Parts: sequence; C-alpha cells; structure tokens
Amino acid sequence: MLHRSIFLLLTLALCLVPSAAAIAHGQTAGKTLDIYFIDTEGGQATLYVSPSGQTLLVDTGNSGERDLNRILDVLTTAGVKQIDHMWLTHYHGDHFGSMVDLSKRIAIKQLYDHGPSIEGDRPRVAAFQKVYAELYAKIPRSVVKPGDQIAFTGTDMTAVMSDGNPLTRPLAKAPGAGRPNPLCATFAARDESTVDPDNHQSAGFVMAYGRFRTINLGDLTWSREYTLMCPNNNIGTFDLYLTNHHGLDQSGSPAFVHAIQPRVAVMNNGTRKGGAVQTYQTLESSPGFDDLWQLHWSYAGGVEHNPPALQIANIDAPDQLAAIIGMASGAQPAVAPPAGPAGNAAHSPAHYLKVSARTDGSFTVTNSRNGYSKSYAARP
Ligand SMILES: [Zn+2]
Repeated sequence: MLHRSIFLLLTLALCLVPSAAAIAHGQTAGKTLDIYFIDTEGGQATLYVSPSGQTLLVDTGNSGERDLNRILDVLTTAGVKQIDHMWLTHYHGDHFGSMVDLSKRIAIKQLYDHGPSIEGDRPRVAAFQKVYAELYAKIPRSVVKPGDQIAFTGTDMTAVMSDGNPLTRPLAKAPGAGRPNPLCATFAARDESTVDPDNHQSAGFVMAYGRFRTINLGDLTWSREYTLMCPNNNIGTFDLYLTNHHGLDQSGSPAFVHAIQPRVAVMNNGTRKGGAVQTYQTLESSPGFDDLWQLHWSYAGGVEHNPPALQIANIDAPDQLAAIIGMASGAQPAVAPPAGPAGNAAHSPAHYLKVSARTDGSFTVTNSRNGYSKSYAARP
C-alpha cells in the first residue's frame, strides 16, 4: 500500500513537471510577455511572445547559416510554430539578412516595414528589395506610419517612428507622455554625414503589457531621436530599452535616453560593434537606471563599463575572460581587441537574453548562458 502511494505521488509529481516549452513561455509563472534577444553578433533579431502565444519577430540578423540557425534554435526553445508578425526595422544586412531563408522554414503571416529603402541604389539592398517584393506578393504587408496600432494580441503596441517621421502627438495611456523635455535645451547636434541613411528611416514601436513598457527603435539615429523627443516627450517612460543601433555612439543621445528613463537596457552589440563608451556613460548617468545586460562583452567598453559577466550572454574569447577575472580581482587590466573582422564570430552555442514581463510592471531577465536571473519589482 505504501509502495502504491509513493508510486502515485511520483506519478503526480511527474505530471506537474512542466515541459521546456512551457517554461519558455512562462506559463508556470502566470501569463507573461516574453522577449528573447537573440545573438546575431551586432545585428538584431528579437522575438516577442505574447501572453496568448502570438509571436512577433523584429529583424532577422545577418544572412547565412549562423544567424538563421540561432533564430531557429530560439524559436524551437520558445515553442513557436509560426511568426504572426514579422517587423523589419530597416534595409540593412544585419537586420534583413536571414528573412527570406527563414520564410522557407517557418510560416510568416504578416510583414511590416517603413516603405522602400532610400539606399535602393546599393546592389545588396536592391537585391533584397527584389526578393522581399516576392515575399509580400504572398504575405500581407503593412507599411507602418507613426501612430499605427499593431494587433499583437494581449499587448498595446504602437508604431512611433517610420521612414524618418516621428509620432507627433502624446501617446495615450503612456506615463509622462506629452510633457516638455527639458533635455532638448542641451541637445548637441551631430555630424551624421557618415551614417548609412536608412538607419534614419528605422521603423520603431513601443509596447505595453499592463504597466510594463518597452521600446524598440531599430537603428534610429541621434538626429531622429531628437525629432521624436523634442520639444515634447510624446512616448513617456519605459521599463526596458533595447539600445538604439546596437549601442553605437551614432545613437542613444542623453536627450532621448534620459527622457525615457529606462530601468533596464539590453544591448544587442557585438564584441567590436556597439558598446561605445559614450553610450555606456549616458546609460550610467540616466535617472533611475538599474542595470545593463549585453549580448556580448564589448572591447570598447573594457573593464570599466561592461556589466558584470553574469549579465553578458556571450563571452567567447579567452582574453575576455581574463579581463573579467582581472576586473574581479581589482587588477583592471587593459584589454586590446585581437585582430579580426567585426561581428564575425562563429561561436557555438550562442546564448540569448530572455525577459519575462508581468502586467503589474515587474519583470525578470534571464541569461541563457548561465541561467542567472534577476527580477525587477514593479515601479511604485
Ligand atoms: Zn544594425
């Protein structure tokens, strides 16, 4: 009898063990909005899974097997069967790279973009626009305008930038939206003559899940951030900020970052792309800023600015580890990047960062490399 009771208890316990897919969806912890920041070595591929299981993928990293497989791996981990919404921020190879190959591997139901590229004379962009046109001959496509509501179930998602045009009225229900932005008075314009112009056109959105708010503006640039945030901040404040433009110093002005007051930022950098010292300094001095998480160690940030290794998803070279060990011992070694092209690492596995957000505004960030999680309480 005792044996039978133990057997029944064991059976019950096994039935209660959640599947990996259920954990990935956050189903065990109540309904969450889950966001996966996938490592594409300084490109973007960000997966959003709504509380009801709808999916939104923002950009598709670089072309080639590496990023395609990394995206497919995370889709599998998250139990994703189709991409309900495919959002292209702009027409650069670190964003559109794997889209066509991905469309052959998983169903895509709806496309979003900012309209034609202004770099259509570049052969690679022209070639992508041609195959992209073949995609949207088969899949419904929306050219987004600021203010457009996106039907991503269970969330409140609004386009706020597209084709160089900002949202020009306060966003409804956004805390702090519509107030004058005093930081505009000290905004310092930049020479952007060397910036690839389609970055300016990035299609970007804000998303709310209850009180939780997050923002993804692709590679939006310094001057276009200004048009969105000055003279008034029409979009309010945020819990989670994906650093604009991989953390490059062509973006992420104090007038923008300090006005949106992020609590946590995720940087989709590569070891040698993004992670600019100025970007770190702007985040470090931002009011109410708690933590930065990164997809990679940044050589530019060095030991002074990279966050604790626990919060870095990919640390893939011995010299980076040496630097971190040195940092822990207080030795502060100088770390020079080894020779090699930017954003070309082929390390495997590639780790992601996952955010699970709840309607009260609280959220948890998890590093898939080490399982380290940190929870952030709802704002008062
Ligand atoms: Zn980019």
